[in-house]
Amino acid sequence: MSYRGRLAPSPTGYLHLGHARTFWTASQRARQAGGTLILRNEDLDRDRARPEFVAAFLEDLRWLGLEWTEGPDVGGPFGPYSQSERLSSYREILERLRAGGWLFPCQCSRKDIQNAVRAPHAADDEPIYPGTCRPRTGIQIEHQSRVNWRFRVPDGAVIEFVDGHFGPQRFVAGRDFGDFVVWRHDDLPSYQLACVADDAAMRITEVVRGADLLVSTARQLLLYQALGWPPPRFYHAPLLADEHGVRLAKRHAALSLRALRNAGRTPESLRTEFSTPRPGELPLPTPPA
Ligand code: GLU
Repeated sequence: MSYRGRLAPSPTGYLHLGHARTFWTASQRARQAGGTLILRNEDLDRDRARPEFVAAFLEDLRWLGLEWTEGPDVGGPFGPYSQSERLSSYREILERLRAGGWLFPCQCSRKDIQNAVRAPHAADDEPIYPGTCRPRTGIQIEHQSRVNWRFRVPDGAVIEFVDGHFGPQRFVAGRDFGDFVVWRHDDLPSYQLACVADDAAMRITEVVRGADLLVSTARQLLLYQALGWPPPRFYHAPLLADEHGVRLAKRHAALSLRALRNAGRTPESLRTEFSTPRPGELPLPTPPA
């Protein structure tokens, strides 16, 4: 199977240096493998996603020199490439997981339910669910509307994978993460469900993403298992921090690609910076073909 990688920006702000570096890594790995690069618009967060940020990431990524051959702007065989247009495929997966007995309805109105629609970055990650609505028995639950659905994790199960950058990884379900949200009461899938659905449907062979999503990868591996799908490979890119050691986020406006571009940075200088390993970091290895 030939390499298929993806860029999955969320249009909730301008891309910053940290995103750019991860996306650059993703594009380099696809290029080195002679593979295909897909752009997916992760616009499920209705409260925060804005069309002008879609236009902005397309422009900024092109300015940086990235090229994709499938995406919302160029089409392709696995479209649509905007998550807001793929809801019916997510619903099918919700049904499959529910029929398989993997989910339970949750009436809690907790902050993690609100946040579930976006990728959890570091401190934003959901706390271990205390189990308030977790059924004591494994009885089949009938369809219920206006509830949240959580994936019941097999407590103590070990999830292991070999990361393309960080090497062997090991997580324990119920300890490193708990029962996670897959569907919200307002009829939206969580990031975890949508991401697995799309990476599988778009035949992604390697997911390149920031290191703060390592725990999400463990959650997603449980979804692949439950659905009986082979997972892709994973490569987690080290995160960039500001001068105080704080992870870059969309609030670091001065480090947005737009601001850097207005300040005279060239795409060439950024690409050179991204290709140079930082202290303690390995150079980009060649991905498997
Ligand atoms: N849209 C997600 C983000 O911007 C992507 C996460 C992923 O690569 O899976 O954080």
